[in-house]
Amino acid sequence: MKYIAALDQGTTSSRCIIFDQNANPVASHANEFKQIYPQPGWVEHDPEDIWQSQLDALKSAVAKAGIDAKDIAAVGITNQRETTLLWDRITGEKYHNAIVWQCRRTAPIVEKLKADGLTEEIKARTGLIADAYFSGTKLKWMLDASPALRQRAERGELCFGTVDSYLAYRLSGGSVHVTDATNASRTMLFNIHTQSWDETLLKMLDIPCELLPQVVDSSRVVGYLDRSILGREIPIAALAGDQHAALYGQACFEKGMAKNTYGTGCFLLMNTGSDIIDSRSGLLSTMAWRIDGKPTYALEGSVFVAGAAIQWLRDELKIIEKASDTQALAESLRDNGGVYLVPAFAGLGAPYWDMYARGTIVGLTRGTGRAHIARAALESIAYQSCDVLEAMQKDSSTDIKLLRADGGATANDFLMQFQADILGCSVIKPKVTETTAMGAAMLAGRAVGLWTDAQLREIWQSETEFEPSVTREEALKLKTRWRRAVEKAAGWEK
Ligand code: ADP
Repeated sequence: MKYIAALDQGTTSSRCIIFDQNANPVASHANEFKQIYPQPGWVEHDPEDIWQSQLDALKSAVAKAGIDAKDIAAVGITNQRETTLLWDRITGEKYHNAIVWQCRRTAPIVEKLKADGLTEEIKARTGLIADAYFSGTKLKWMLDASPALRQRAERGELCFGTVDSYLAYRLSGGSVHVTDATNASRTMLFNIHTQSWDETLLKMLDIPCELLPQVVDSSRVVGYLDRSILGREIPIAALAGDQHAALYGQACFEKGMAKNTYGTGCFLLMNTGSDIIDSRSGLLSTMAWRIDGKPTYALEGSVFVAGAAIQWLRDELKIIEKASDTQALAESLRDNGGVYLVPAFAGLGAPYWDMYARGTIVGLTRGTGRAHIARAALESIAYQSCDVLEAMQKDSSTDIKLLRADGGATANDFLMQFQADILGCSVIKPKVTETTAMGAAMLAGRAVGLWTDAQLREIWQSETEFEPSVTREEALKLKTRWRRAVEKAAGWEK
């Protein structure tokens, strides 16, 4: 039996899952690591913490699986995206803590880009809406802080990279400096049309090209694990940002296939094939992956508050004890009783883009109880996801025929059924719910010849399918009322 070790380096934990050659997860290990908040709105990770927690997760998972290193066919890496690292090319020493994707310290740099009228140019080249999330301004911030550092960067003595790049460097004993096209597409420095670092953007942000990693395919052997790690050289055969790996792990290989990850927020990606869609709804165009030199693109949208609304019911309103209580409460009602909750706690994202919107509950009557509120919170997750998916369909002129679902909140059957009802298409949960790690494993496995593309199509298996159970008129009536509720929440803080 051969195995693949999938490294899933996330925002709060580093994990490793070992998959066997039938793509069954056989062992896993996760380590949390420290979050550093130097100032309000600033978030950092110590690169050494990222590395040590990931290294230990790999070694521990291999030990738990009880397998020999010679049977590990490849290692695949998937990672928190956009988080920015800068290290010494020779010694690997860090020059700054990693600036995490959530960190808002570069908002003023982004404001300046906007004021200079550069947002359209950025979008045309990168597919992104200019924002402090992306790596480009974070790297600029690090270099601007020290003229000496900038000089060293210009001399090629430093390496910039996202987490995939850093892990590949460390795993290979410092011998490779690469990043894959999905991670590159989140830097705001990468031209998704030409598939190369963009000189205009580098100039715009004053970033020397000497410190950039080589951009490689998402599924390809890029280097080998240093012998000191597991006692032998093992191919590092995949790099992909977490959402992209999840799209692959959900086997959304064809244009028009989409996945939604239902967690604290929701992350939706739709495969748009070889087309880069210029979204009119405020969605991002991004890489799905790049394989055999061929780029596949995706539309991406997210819902800021999804599972977080359920946490709010539990922690602030205290009307449930645990998240799963919401299902029985919702099912105790025949319908929503006209109650809608718009969890715009932090404004509304695509397709509304209203930072002044605030949370709202409408339709309350004397008979409204906690079951109505719980149901409305679950429904709001489905409505918001539906809004994003409908924007994707409109922007791409493609019909979504089914939605593949993963993430913690997919445990809720009421939510999954209601999502199918509102969308009017099947919502499908896979057998292996660890789709991010699975995607990294699949990308790595194909690169070393463990699986063919035809076999990868067979590997993904559905576990539960939810089919629409209401008429389209009924669904439209519900959605129309939801939109009216959103109008009530809009612009509240202005
Ligand atoms: P993340 O990776 O964002 O931390 P997870 O995928 O672990 O999120 O999912 C956790 C989220 O899902 C929490 O916000 C929680 O409220 C929600 N959740 C978990 N189980 C349920 C459930 N049975 N019903 C509704 N929401 C749930």
